[in-house]
Amino acid sequence: SYRGRWSSDSSDSAVSTESECSFSRVVVIGENGVGKSALSGIFAGARDSMDSNCDLLGDDTYERTLVVDGERATIILLDTWANDEGSWTQEHCMQAGDAYLIVYSITDRASFEKASELRIRLRRTRQSEDIPIILVGNKSDLVRRRQVSVTEGRACAVVFDCKFIETSAAVHHNVQEMFEGIVRQVRLRRDSKEV
Ligand code: GDP
Ligand code: MG
Repeated sequence: SYRGRWSSDSSDSAVSTESECSFSRVVVIGENGVGKSALSGIFAGARDSMDSNCDLLGDDTYERTLVVDGERATIILLDTWANDEGSWTQEHCMQAGDAYLIVYSITDRASFEKASELRIRLRRTRQSEDIPIILVGNKSDLVRRRQVSVTEGRACAVVFDCKFIETSAAVHHNVQEMFEGIVRQVRLRRDSKEV
C-alpha cells in the first residue's frame, strides 16, 4: 500500500538519536490547478516513520517530521500560494520559504511558462540567496494529455539551477521522493555553509 511506503522499515532503527532540531519552511508555488493542494494533501495525510500525525498549523500549513537518510527533518509545508498577482500573500510566500517546490502540470504548457516566471521572481526577491528549489512536473499519470516533455522539464531545471522531478498526486508517484529531495537540497546547502 502507499501508506506502507511512508511508514517505518527496518532501516529506521539507524536514525540518529542526537536530535538536531532542524526544520525547514517549504513553500509550494505554481499556477492554479496544477496540483499544489493535492501534493500537499498527500504530505498532510501520509504517516511518517515516526508514526506521528501531521500537525495542522493553520489553513493550508502542515508540519511533519520525516526520516531522510537516517536523519530526522521537520518540514513546515505552506500551501498558501494564491493567484492574486502582487498580493500580500504572494509577497509573503516569496519571502517565507527556506525552500520551494515550483509546480506545473505536464498537461498545461501555460503552467510550465508560469513556472519560469516564478523562478525569475524568486531570484529577484531573494537575491544573493542560494535557495533550494525543485521544479515539479505534476500529473504525470495523464500521459495522453501531456504538453510538456520530460526533456523540456529537465532542461528548464538546468537553466533554473535547480532539481527536477515529475510526480503524480493522483497515483502517488514520486511524491515521497519529492519531499525527501527537498530535505536533501536543504541539507546540502546547510552542510556547505558549516565548512
Ligand atoms: P492547485 O490549484 O494547484 O492547488 O491544484 P489542486 O491540487 O486543487 O488540483 C487541481 C485539480 O487537478 C484537481 O481536480 C485535482 O484532483 C487534479 N490533480 C491534481 N494532481 C493531479 C495528478 O497528479 N493527476 C491528475 N490526473 N489529476 C491531478
Ligand atoms: Mg490549491
